[in-house]
Amino acid sequence: MPYSILIVDDDIAIKDSVSEYLKAKNYNVKSALNAAEALEILNSFEADVVLTDIMMQGMDGLELTQKIKESYDLDVMVMTGYSAEYSYENAVQAGASDFIFKPFRFEELDLRIKRVLREADFKNERSKLLKKLEKIAITDALTQLYNSRHFFAQIKAEVNRHIRYSRALSLLILDIDFFKNYNDTWGHLEGDKVLMGIGTTINACMRSMDTAYRYGGEEFTILLPETKLQKACVVGARIKDSISSQIFEPESGTKASVTVSLGATQLVKGEDFRSFLSRADKALYTSKETGRNKLTYFVS
Ligand code: GH3
Ligand code: MG
Ligand code: MG
Repeated sequence: MPYSILIVDDDIAIKDSVSEYLKAKNYNVKSALNAAEALEILNSFEADVVLTDIMMQGMDGLELTQKIKESYDLDVMVMTGYSAEYSYENAVQAGASDFIFKPFRFEELDLRIKRVLREADFKNERSKLLKKLEKIAITDALTQLYNSRHFFAQIKAEVNRHIRYSRALSLLILDIDFFKNYNDTWGHLEGDKVLMGIGTTINACMRSMDTAYRYGGEEFTILLPETKLQKACVVGARIKDSISSQIFEPESGTKASVTVSLGATQLVKGEDFRSFLSRADKALYTSKETGRNKLTYFVS
């Protein structure tokens, strides 16, 4: 796709000649005679670069640059005559990416535009990459749920937030029953498929504001903001039943399933995340001790 450029200059001769040159260079070009017209055009024209004169009637090019940078993620290049009082510093402070003196050779303008575009592409690529890396850093590769590092960051943040605003916060912790047997019988790779399946099931049973984490090897946690214990138990029971009704096929023609045990609790005013988490863990332990494939909740 060609890059789009908006030219702003109250000198019609410059505006038109630059437009023609850049069109011939295959840019998608629009032009305006003043800042107000330029802002109007930007409402519907997705420019990659705005090339603006500085000295114009009404709003000047530096003010226009500031206005554009407040609302759009695009580059602004400013043009000015040698005699003008505007400095390179003024332009950069206003947010301009480049500064070019008039009169200029069109070839130089084209090269400068290309450099600005290249830098913008590079910046975009880098920020996309950074986002990807940030996601990888908090995601468990096997289940695609969040990992335990992110769990600890989030439980601390949520506990602080919910105590500050006196809001309910609940926690579910879940552990697969006799999972060692499953691995011993069907092999570790088949066990991994169960972990993946459970990740998918938990995701499908959660509400949009809940977040699920692979807390340990075969243990999962779910943070439920704005949720009282009773509602958390409903979500937990739904997860438990969905998992136990899920059929795996570790060998062709052989059906298998797993059950899970859960602990549930709600944050108590004034406690820290450790005591909150440890109570959920104790509830899980009680589920294990008293028969598995069940949910136990502790109020305090
Ligand atoms: P319980 O009902 O008491 O929880 O019994 P269990 O066998 O599930 O518990 P135990 O703690 O004895 O064993 C946990 C098993 O989970 C052992 C380990 O092989 C398995 N496990 C942990 N992480 C992974 C993993 O990433 N992949 C697979 N396939 N298995 C895992
Ligand atoms: Mg375990
Ligand atoms: Mg287990």
